[in-house]
Amino acid sequence: MLAVRHLTKRFGGFAAVNDLSFDLGPGEILGLIGPNGSGKSTTFSLLAGLLAPTSGSVHFNGAELAGSGANAICRQGIGRTFQIPRPFSKLTVLENVTLAAFYGNAERVSRTEAERRAVDALRLVGLPIDPRATTAGMGAAGLKKLEMARALATQPKLLLADESLGGLDEAEMDQAADMLLRIRDERGIAIIWVEHIMGVLMRVIDRCIVLDHGELIASGKPSEVAHDPRVVEVYLGTDAAEVQQRTSGAMA
Ligand code: ADP
Ligand code: MG
Repeated sequence: MLAVRHLTKRFGGFAAVNDLSFDLGPGEILGLIGPNGSGKSTTFSLLAGLLAPTSGSVHFNGAELAGSGANAICRQGIGRTFQIPRPFSKLTVLENVTLAAFYGNAERVSRTEAERRAVDALRLVGLPIDPRATTAGMGAAGLKKLEMARALATQPKLLLADESLGGLDEAEMDQAADMLLRIRDERGIAIIWVEHIMGVLMRVIDRCIVLDHGELIASGKPSEVAHDPRVVEVYLGTDAAEVQQRTSGAMA
């Protein structure tokens, strides 16, 4: 459903993403990993249309997306969450999600229908359906769920989840991982997941790709990639013992 070819983004002379090619099938959960500054968020911004690529193409369900704006891409079915949630604090939780449903869907929806889709999205992420609930004091886990609900309310076929676990404790991380699996299993939504916390990521993803300095250096099943010497070196450091420790959960 997604075919990325030779995708490149330069800032001046610096290539943040360089000649990146990969595919994604319907309902697949792909992990996108790599050290800080390796180009993961830039890749998301290119796919979601927040940045225009310097060169390369992004085919999604048969249409070329490269160069389209964020609004158009959202309506074509790519939803994105941000690493740092910034909900409208003057609006209620339900209004935040309803707004996303109202403006982000492929077809024009009525206010009532937008609200129905918002309620459905809130239910899917496990937030209470309380029309008076505000975003104040939601906490990291609640805000991440809200971020996910806003993306889901646009009814994406592909969800780009950027570091959904940041700031969560271990139980919340497991819940968030289960939520991504549920989103895929119940709705058939494909997911690309950028995450630093390897153990949880490896449990959920079908396949992963690894970036370093904007370039793809490895791709494959989590177990293969975790043992790839280049990945071990650039991503996890050369300390093999630490690698074993950090990936043993995924191998079990
Ligand atoms: P990651 O998400 O993998 O940590 P990013 O995609 O955010 O990495 O950044 C990749 C590289 O591109 C970094 O070196 C970053 O400083 C640089 N970069 C990102 N956005 C811009 C920008 N708007 N202008 C210049 N450099 C940028
Ligand atoms: Mg990032």
